[in-house]
Amino acid sequence: RAKQAGRNSVCVYEPGMQTEIATQVMLEAELRLAIEQQQLALHYQVQVDHTGRPFGAEALLRWQHPQRGFISPLQFIPVAESSGLIIDIGMWVLDQACAQIAKWQHARNTSDLSLSVNISARQFRQANFISMIKACIQKHQINPNALRLELTESLLLENVDDAVNIMTELSHIGIQFSLDDFGTGYSSLQYLKKLPLYQLKIDRSFVNDIVTDSHDRTIVRTIIAMAQSMYLSVIAEGVETQEQMELLLNNGCRRYQGYLFGKPMPIAQFEASLAQALQ
Ligand code: C2E
Ligand code: MG
Ligand code: MG
Ligand code: MG
Repeated sequence: RAKQAGRNSVCVYEPGMQTEIATQVMLEAELRLAIEQQQLALHYQVQVDHTGRPFGAEALLRWQHPQRGFISPLQFIPVAESSGLIIDIGMWVLDQACAQIAKWQHARNTSDLSLSVNISARQFRQANFISMIKACIQKHQINPNALRLELTESLLLENVDDAVNIMTELSHIGIQFSLDDFGTGYSSLQYLKKLPLYQLKIDRSFVNDIVTDSHDRTIVRTIIAMAQSMYLSVIAEGVETQEQMELLLNNGCRRYQGYLFGKPMPIAQFEASLAQALQ
């Protein structure tokens, strides 16, 4: 990329870049419509303990475009972020998530479930983030213990002191924080210990090769040991095979999320499989 090439190089645009920008602009316009026309939906992916019992879920945003079909959040979240649309989208996600938590808390079998929600940098740094979260909890009358916010290392590193303040205030009302994609960022232990975290979430890239790659195995062991030494919960994402799960379990990780246990799915389907698992 021209920007990354450094100041001594000539600014050369790669072929395909223009269409890439055009796609971004188009996506942004269409994303505005998507909010109005209710093309966004939350899917739910189960999280289980070492006995296979569900204890929660992660809410994952889906965009079903009327012409282009399914568009991945990896594609549209960055557009939402750079355009500022993430503020409205993020609010909608939190409202949906809290409504779902309220439903679960009113039913006998599901009253202990937690729901993880991904928070992007711009959303986290918005001036009224704390009051927005509190208002959402008020509106749906939920126990805040069930709401888990997933943050990334890069988001926190932008301004650690501010992040600590925001997290501390929300922790005081019972909200828990999980550090998503852990291991891919540059967090030092120095600042990690400053953060009021509940959980580390081991990135899927390490889980992926855990059986065959001894380096990844070492990284995973180190993350688990780190979590334990800081009294943090630890969960692995992207668990696809029994072998991966057993390796994780043998190293002390007792919480998992991944295709082995269930793919992200629409709420009706999720509730059906949940009912079966919890009966
Ligand atoms: P993430 O938070 O790290 O979510 C985990 C991703 O891994 C999800 O991709 C999920 O579908 C996928 N995954 C789960 N289990 C497996 C597995 O066993 N194997 C493989 N190969 N993949 C697995 P998804 O749904 O495409 O979301 C991608 C990213 O988009 C998320 O990564 C998150 O950063 C972002 N995202 C999704 N929903 C939201 C949202 O509501 N708000 C924000 N700000 N970001 C979101
Ligand atoms: Mg996540
Ligand atoms: Mg993740
Ligand atoms: Mg990830």
